[in-house]
Amino acid sequence: FNRIEVSEESKDELDQMGQTFNRMIELLECNYEKQQQFVSDASHELRTPLTVIESYANLLKRWGMTNPERLKEAVEAILEESKRMKGLTQQMLSLATGEQDRTVELRKLELSLLAQETARKLQQAYERDIHIGTDETYTILGDEARIKQLLFILLENGLKYSNDSLTVTFSHYNEFVQMEVSDQGIGISEKDLPHVFERFFRVDKARSRQTGGSGLGLAIAKTIVDVHGGQISVISKEQVGTTFTVLLPMAIRKGGELDE
Ligand code: ADP
Repeated sequence: FNRIEVSEESKDELDQMGQTFNRMIELLECNYEKQQQFVSDASHELRTPLTVIESYANLLKRWGMTNPERLKEAVEAILEESKRMKGLTQQMLSLATGEQDRTVELRKLELSLLAQETARKLQQAYERDIHIGTDETYTILGDEARIKQLLFILLENGLKYSNDSLTVTFSHYNEFVQMEVSDQGIGISEKDLPHVFERFFRVDKARSRQTGGSGLGLAIAKTIVDVHGGQISVISKEQVGTTFTVLLPMAIRKGGELDE
């Protein structure tokens, strides 16, 4: 885009309008660059599993009929990578629709109960403990499918990047319900911390790939919190642990009744 020549100090109305246009152009360029980056990152992420699938398909073609060991290895690898690609495309779709579609179906949700539900599923899969530290009820106004997805991302990350149990606590904070998900895992360095909510960002690409990570989970989590008018933040210390804090709007009591 072409910028308009303006003198920064000018009080002239035309110059000021020029400055405003230039700021608009900067914003447009920024979005354009982000989209370009997204497309290039996404292509790169999809290429990796495709390359693996292709090479194993070639192996099958050459050895599949004669060598049952290689046949087994190739089929398993192809299935694994296809599963990865499927997950990745689902996440990309979720991010794209989440960012565009800002309509949320809000209803009263019992956040701690949903967290317990998610924890139960993950505990089975990972065979690890998740402590949900509350017997109280914390009711928010939220979109059930999206809040479940948010819980899944945060709890699964806690399990993926630590070896110990996880703790989830709840409290009230002004007109928000505050949820904290804490682990005692590998933590995130100060340098990487500001980037964890960026799309495709991963601290350790090799490790994250092993754990099935794509770097989209937290970007999706942030989109979900944003559409609810909430906030998400993180504090972390390497080799000590990480805490994600989420604020979600509380279902407000009006005359003793919970607001719909
Ligand atoms: P991924 O699919 O790679 O887990 P996320 O967007 O969910 O992607 O997370 C981005 C990166 O942030 C991860 O690759 C990991 O390096 C880091 N991260 C996320 N959660 C945690 C955590 N609880 N402890 C340590 N690192 C984490």
